[in-house]
Amino acid sequence: MLNIILFGPPGSGKGTQAQLLREHFKLLHISTGDIFRSEIKNETVIGKEVKQYLDAGKLVPDELTIRMLGNYADSNLKTEMQGIIFDGFPRTVPQAEALDDFLANKNSSINVVLSLEVNDEELVKRLINRGLTSGRSDDSNEEVVRNRLKVYYNQTAPLADFYLAQKKFVSIRGVGTIDEIFAHLCDEMNKLS
Ligand code: ADP
Repeated sequence: MLNIILFGPPGSGKGTQAQLLREHFKLLHISTGDIFRSEIKNETVIGKEVKQYLDAGKLVPDELTIRMLGNYADSNLKTEMQGIIFDGFPRTVPQAEALDDFLANKNSSINVVLSLEVNDEELVKRLINRGLTSGRSDDSNEEVVRNRLKVYYNQTAPLADFYLAQKKFVSIRGVGTIDEIFAHLCDEMNKLS
């Protein structure tokens, strides 16, 4: 299996690039943010529980996030898929450890972490802009957007060290056209095989 993590702050373009990588490399795309938004939309018990966190731009507790991820991967991974692209997961060290265990159970592991680098002012601009059309409550309010960045730097950015220690962390310039960034990501992916 080819398992990759698309890493980077909110608004860095993970979702856009994950879709392109999914198609090109025949991967299962797992976005924990999309899973949570779908639960909220369908008004499930889990949706009701996680809504407060998404609205405030806070992380959903690890235990619930890890369980959702495992269930989603187990029911959506098909034999024709070459592996998984993780988008928005892991976001904490306990999530990264749980992911290693989850993949080890499948005799697999993370091949590479591709980190999209974008400066803060560009991120805030992109997120507020997305809020105008996405209908996402967490994009529409500048205070929530800035809180998400703070949460990212405090809780998620330290994961870079976790993957640097495993020699799996690669930085990619996340500013430029979608095609340019995709080409850089593909170059890194092609180094793997
Ligand atoms: P973005 O990358 O733009 O912040 P996401 O769709 O990845 O958007 O995440 C939206 C929200 O979903 C987060 O602010 C958080 O509340 C919740 N979420 C998504 N993934 C995780 C995760 N791995 N752990 C905890 N909470 C998460």
